[in-house]
Amino acid sequence: MTIYNFSAGPAVLPHEVLLQAREELLDWHGSGMSVMEMSHRGREFMGIHAQAEADLRELMGVPANYKVLFLQGGAHLQFSMIPLNLLRGKAAADYVNTGEWSKKAMAEARKFCTVNEVASSADKNFSCVPAFNTWHCDKNAAYLHYTPNETIGGVEFNWIPETGDVPLVADMSSNILSREYDVSKFALIYAGAQKNIGPAGLCIVIVREDLLGHVPAHTPTMLDYKIHADADSMYNTPPTYAIYMAGLVFQWLKKNGGVAAMEQVNIAKAKLLYAAIDASSGFYHCPVARDDRSRMNVAFSTRDALLDAEFIKQAEARRLMQLKGHKLAGGMRASIYNAMPLAGVQALAGFMGEFAQRRG
Ligand SMILES: *Cc1c(COP(=O)(O)O)cnc(C)c1O
Repeated sequence: MTIYNFSAGPAVLPHEVLLQAREELLDWHGSGMSVMEMSHRGREFMGIHAQAEADLRELMGVPANYKVLFLQGGAHLQFSMIPLNLLRGKAAADYVNTGEWSKKAMAEARKFCTVNEVASSADKNFSCVPAFNTWHCDKNAAYLHYTPNETIGGVEFNWIPETGDVPLVADMSSNILSREYDVSKFALIYAGAQKNIGPAGLCIVIVREDLLGHVPAHTPTMLDYKIHADADSMYNTPPTYAIYMAGLVFQWLKKNGGVAAMEQVNIAKAKLLYAAIDASSGFYHCPVARDDRSRMNVAFSTRDALLDAEFIKQAEARRLMQLKGHKLAGGMRASIYNAMPLAGVQALAGFMGEFAQRRG
């Protein structure tokens, strides 16, 4: 049955990738083994791992002086690993507060250091990105952390903060590989895999080498980036099947023109949904400032909870699934990551128009 899955995460995977995984499930490349059954130190899996890393480096243009780590613990564990590893004896770090994920990162960081909230859109109900000329950055901060795409609020930066010598840290969980980024502008990029990469259980960290090796003495071994970097992400048993699946997605991206081509499709997809909202004469409402609307998570509502529920129910009858907004936001949210085909977005935009006609 063909459905279109607009889940915010874990989210839709490319259909071709799932078919390939099925094809290879019991017998990977004539090895007689499933990838799940392989030793992570064996020749086969080491090859899968190395290829996945090489492909990700190529897709994102990761410079040679950065390590790519395949870790566990989700983006959440990075909320603590970042201060542990990047404070390097300093007492404070800068954080930009643009919504729920920023807030969670800040709350965790407060266990380790003074958090300087350099800017916040809380007074605007997190409906926009605070203008850079209003930020109060600290030149001596250990690093500056921000969330380029707020998955729940549907707010996305379309620019990169200039932090000078202060290392820039980005939670790209929901927009990694969806648009081109100059990795050299960042000190550290992290992303849980389950939105735009692969299955849950894998978290990707891209970190500049000079930031490794400065953890306090009491740091648990597993929370030290250098341990993982020195062991090629094989200090302990890595999430092998999730890495394999991520690797298949990287190959799929390369086959489809890489990140630049994906970005163009993502722009077109987002445009269709925001156009459906803007053409509805106010029937649909998007709370996000126009310039800061996310290409990945389109948040909208009819401002009537009963009508929203009806929309979601009727959408499901058309096989447009998982459109319910986050419990903190209400309304609807269409997550349209790389793996969501244009046809799925066209189907949703069509239904939105029709529903507005009928109920507006
Ligand atoms: C989903 C998400 C997280 C949380 O990821 P986990 O892997 O569940 O820890 C953090 N940040 C952002 C921006 C997210 O979208």
